Amino acid sequence: MIEDFIKKYQYQKKANLKKYNTYKIESLANYLIFPKDSQELLDLLKYLKKNNLKYIILGAGSNIILAKNNYDIVIKLDNLNHISINNDTIVVEAGYSLMKLAREVATLGLSGLEFAGGIPGQVGASVAMNAGAYKQDMSSIVESVKIIDDNFQIKTLTKDELNFSYRSSLFKEKREYICLEATLKLQKDDKNKIFSLMENRAKRRMETQPLNMPSAGSVFRNPNELFAGALIEDLGLKGYNINDACVSEKHANFIINKGNATGEDIINLITYIQSKVKEKYNIDLILEQEIKR
Ligand SMILES: Cc1cc2nc3c(=O)[nH]c(=O)nc-3n(C[C@H](O)[C@H](O)[C@H](O)COP(=O)(O)OP(=O)(O)OC[C@H]3O[C@@H](n4cnc5c(N)ncnc54)[C@H](O)[C@@H]3O)c2cc1C
Repeated sequence: MIEDFIKKYQYQKKANLKKYNTYKIESLANYLIFPKDSQELLDLLKYLKKNNLKYIILGAGSNIILAKNNYDIVIKLDNLNHISINNDTIVVEAGYSLMKLAREVATLGLSGLEFAGGIPGQVGASVAMNAGAYKQDMSSIVESVKIIDDNFQIKTLTKDELNFSYRSSLFKEKREYICLEATLKLQKDDKNKIFSLMENRAKRRMETQPLNMPSAGSVFRNPNELFAGALIEDLGLKGYNINDACVSEKHANFIINKGNATGEDIINLITYIQSKVKEKYNIDLILEQEIKR
């Protein structure tokens, strides 16, 4: 019985996941477990494997679509949040907030994370999906990462081993790998210059993105040399909705939840947009967000 095993863990039973995903989709976790460190995480993963129990890993829930009304086990990495800073080298655990990190290193006059000031994810998931903006991404600052692999070995992989590409990395091929910690290399720069760049970008985001509504950021990757948002806008789909899932009027590559959208509503809207873009432009839009089934 899992409850015997997780007795010593921090966990919640029958947890509503609405506050743990930025789309604000209602969904239930029978067990929402917060391992206190990588050893607890490792022990838990081994237990789940041995007992053939399915789980999902959740970071800040800002790039996922919860497709199910009910998940058995959800693991949240918030407690893996240690950080150490040595000159321009940062060693930071997977559950640390990327936005918080971007602000903290800016205060220290360290440049390299300006692109991340508006990305509301955790470090681990951001490495895994190679989050980025303004032609920069995690691959430009990651030196190495510590992971748990599919044989429950803790290993360090160098940047070259991580196969980074646009919004992708080795973690997309090896779905069971979990990022535990990242070592990032930044550069000294003028603090005011860093803050001013970040403030300009935050202002621009406020103007162009529907930040007052629940969403999970860009829905689709930009196709080569094109913008997914422009293609969707050209089709007249701004404001198009399926129940409460709606293409944002402000930015056509955002889907917003107007209240009670389900994961299925969002997925149906995504499929509809993809079919329209394929029909008109013969382009296959690739989903940037992750559907959790
Ligand atoms: C308003 C808004 C703006 C955004 N802007 C950007 C942007 O400019 N650029 C951008 O790239 N993204 C953007 N995003 C999307 C999102 O913030 C990023 O993709 C972020 O990196 C996701 O992190 P997360 O912790 O929320 O991941 P989650 O959504 O919790 O998880 C995403 C995936 O990663 C997996 N995962 C979680 N933790 C780990 C781990 N430690 N190891 C391995 N896999 C893991 C999960 O199982 C899931 O499959 C935006 C989102 C919002 C809501």
